[in-house]
Amino acid sequence: MPEPSNNDARKIVRIPLWYLLLLPLAFLLMQALFQGERTQIPYSDFKNLLQAGKVSEVTVAEDVISGTLKNEGLDQILPREKLAQMRCKAEHGCNFVTVRVADPQLVEQMQDQGVRFTGQQKSEWFSTLLSWVIPLALFFWIWNGMAKRAGMSSVFDIGKSKARVYVASKTGVTFDDVAGIDEAKDELMEIVEFLKNPERYRRLGGKIPKGVLIVGAPGTGKTLLAKAVAGEAGVPFFSISGSEFVEMFVGVGAARVRDLFAQAEEKAPCIIFIDELDALGKARGISIVSGANSEQEQTLNQLLVEMDGFDTNKGVIILAATNRPEILDPALLRPGRFDRHVALDRPDLKGREKILQVHVKHIVLSPQVDLSAIAARTAGFAGADLANLVNEAALLAARRGKDQVDMADFDEAIDRIVAGLEKKTRVMNPKEKETVAYHEAGHALIAELRPYADHVSKISIIPRGIAALGYTQQLPTEDRYLLKKSELLDRLDVFLGGRVAEELVFGDISTGAQNDLQMATDMARHMVTQYGMSERLGMAAFEEGRAPFLHPAAVQERKSYSENTAQVIDAEIARLIEDAHQRVKQTLMQRRDLLDTLAHALLQKETMDREELRALMAEVPERKGSAAGG
Ligand code: ADP
Ligand code: ZN
Repeated sequence: MPEPSNNDARKIVRIPLWYLLLLPLAFLLMQALFQGERTQIPYSDFKNLLQAGKVSEVTVAEDVISGTLKNEGLDQILPREKLAQMRCKAEHGCNFVTVRVADPQLVEQMQDQGVRFTGQQKSEWFSTLLSWVIPLALFFWIWNGMAKRAGMSSVFDIGKSKARVYVASKTGVTFDDVAGIDEAKDELMEIVEFLKNPERYRRLGGKIPKGVLIVGAPGTGKTLLAKAVAGEAGVPFFSISGSEFVEMFVGVGAARVRDLFAQAEEKAPCIIFIDELDALGKARGISIVSGANSEQEQTLNQLLVEMDGFDTNKGVIILAATNRPEILDPALLRPGRFDRHVALDRPDLKGREKILQVHVKHIVLSPQVDLSAIAARTAGFAGADLANLVNEAALLAARRGKDQVDMADFDEAIDRIVAGLEKKTRVMNPKEKETVAYHEAGHALIAELRPYADHVSKISIIPRGIAALGYTQQLPTEDRYLLKKSELLDRLDVFLGGRVAEELVFGDISTGAQNDLQMATDMARHMVTQYGMSERLGMAAFEEGRAPFLHPAAVQERKSYSENTAQVIDAEIARLIEDAHQRVKQTLMQRRDLLDTLAHALLQKETMDREELRALMAEVPERKGSAAGG
């Protein structure tokens, strides 16, 4: 086991540079504010006024002279706009201030004119204090706000963090509390068995998994599921969020990780749950700009060290949750770390009904409430949204003095929550839903009709992840290392299927196809420039395949062809895509009946697995595997 790095002894405060620049600026601002009541005039004007006998009172300070002018006859000496600024008062006269200039005769002249004058001691302690204290307070306030927003603890918590105790608690949550995500439940059931009965698995020399990564959009029940695992196994549950690790002092995060694992080991068997793993597990080197880098990197390293170091025989299993698996450091996903992945999707119609059933147990429900109807109206809701919905409906009913929560309360609660979610674009309106249904049906139909395309395993209009609206999942029937041109062309068709379906049905296309077009273009480019699959260009490779995970700056695209060739390449790519476009259009027009059937079924069921899909297209003979082959 490698020694944990010793860097946490050296604590470095991270303050953004621009912040330090802000400080003097705020200082100047305050200074200006405190002198704001007096109008500044040139020293020469002051002297002229003095000579003309217009000055009644003067205070001489270290570097400014301020005072009062008599009210009459000033316009002969001062410009009119200056006078307007002075806002002179009848009984007090006009206030002025001027910057002091070395002028040995000043005192004499003032005496001659009979001006009352006085010197001022240097400390204007009040304004000085204010002009420093306020910017400083402002500084801390903003810093604190930023720190909180960045997910770090407040500046004032710095001292506390070290002494943190990770409370382990029996969660009391069981798998019965988790509904609508049965596949994930089954997978985690195994972990419960490991925790309950470690001997049984160890007997034959098998290794119990160390880490399971739960992937899913916010509110899909990742935390709930982790708690249920602990609850079912009857073991303590240590939980911490990845963002809590990322402290503002270098080294604190790493120390916390060490603490956490030490405490968990004492309480074993138990579960450690790390929420928002992405906050500390971002791929190293991605965020070059932010100063958080070294800190986050150390914390991540410490986590890797701890995961490698502890042995599962003690019965500690780490569950982690993220909604952005793609940005995780690959090191986290290596065998012996988070090598098992469980995906949570937003629930489909049936799933939503089941989740509603779980949550209505806690409220007094009118028998007239139809949960399946509510489920049908809440496409796009995650488990947390549904829990929120039930609660909101109960509150509405209570406010109206009802004894039971009825359908009207649910209706209103749905409207409220939908309005909130629409802002986060998580709920589709019926028109969008139809567009997505046809789009996905287009992909699926082409995939099933083309001889060399991969089988469709699942098709859904429930958003998965952040960007996509729906998805069509294809599974190759075997691992492939070599692809033929006919297969690549079929894949190209599948990419375009969604967009062409939209074009056919609505005569219009949406922005939803952007990713598809990107993929299609990339594929066509590869075919032309790397695989030599263009007749016009022949069998030459124009670009070298590049290793995907290299640092972008390190990869300079090498062009070894002329401008002329570049044009031909572009034309060939465009031709490949246009040909595919025509082919797909042809196919979809011929099978418009099937397209409609699929889309309507999707609108109704929201997700279909392979069986349901094949049932609808029984007339199309099923292919044997993804074909091609030898
Ligand atoms: P995540 O960790 O994925 O953001 P949570 O597990 O914190 O989501 O879910 C928040 C709440 O939403 C849960 O406490 C639970 O009440 C409800 N919830 C989410 N998913 C489900 C589900 N599948 N079944 C029942 N309740 C759920
Ligand atoms: Zn698509």
